[in-house]
Amino acid sequence: MTKIIDIGNGVKFGGDDFTIVAGPCSVENEEQMESIGKFLSSLGIKVLRGGAFKPRTDPNDFQGLGFEGLKILKNIKDKYKMKIVSEILDPRDIERAYNYIDIIQIGSRNMQNFPLLKEVGKTDKPVLLKRGMSSSIEEWLKACEYISMEGNENIILCERGIRTFENYTRNTLDLVSVPTIKSLSEYPIIVDPSHGTGRRELILPATKASLAIGADGVIIEIHPNPEMALSDGFQSLNFHEFEILANEIKRLKNLN
Ligand code: PEP
Ligand code: MN
Repeated sequence: MTKIIDIGNGVKFGGDDFTIVAGPCSVENEEQMESIGKFLSSLGIKVLRGGAFKPRTDPNDFQGLGFEGLKILKNIKDKYKMKIVSEILDPRDIERAYNYIDIIQIGSRNMQNFPLLKEVGKTDKPVLLKRGMSSSIEEWLKACEYISMEGNENIILCERGIRTFENYTRNTLDLVSVPTIKSLSEYPIIVDPSHGTGRRELILPATKASLAIGADGVIIEIHPNPEMALSDGFQSLNFHEFEILANEIKRLKNLN
């Protein structure tokens, strides 16, 4: 049985819900986040993602706004009554970030950063643990144990694709990890079709497949103007594309 992680505001991960988390790859400025917050809440989306600390492959690329970004997220959270998912890279930032974030994201590159896992395990915030890009399901579940051993059992897993020989897509989205995780653990699991495919046109079909295969939700990158995004614009949906996705998921859920 999947446990239900209730983050308040009527938002649950696990159980019967298929929860859509959306937002930009990176928090860039107040105007960007205001337009995204307004747009998402008009569609009834209650969980906002946005990276303030960015784990970039190239150290010369935009690294995120840091705590300034978290403050922008907090303003949107208060104004639109949304819950915030944001990544933490450094265990030393957890305490200061605590009041800004509702779900602490541990990114793919840090899935086996054991000191970081232990530190988030000591908090009472739900943790979104992304699958390491070269990690087996067993290693992923062992990483969960690093968190739960410290006392925090509120873990949401996120399948975000793994590296294979295939490079048409950014990663290979391993959707069968969803029922596998369901059979091996009690944690809810969501899918990240944005990083999982790296291609805008594949995000809707991958989201529909995630729903069909039993995922507890998805996390999707959106941007008011993807061509101008400071990170991951090529895999971000614009508002129109996201609205089509949200409507399609609503329609499919109602068929059940
Ligand atoms: C992200 O969510 O923007 C991100 C960096 O994801 P991942 O850790 O899955 O690459
Ligand atoms: Mn991203």
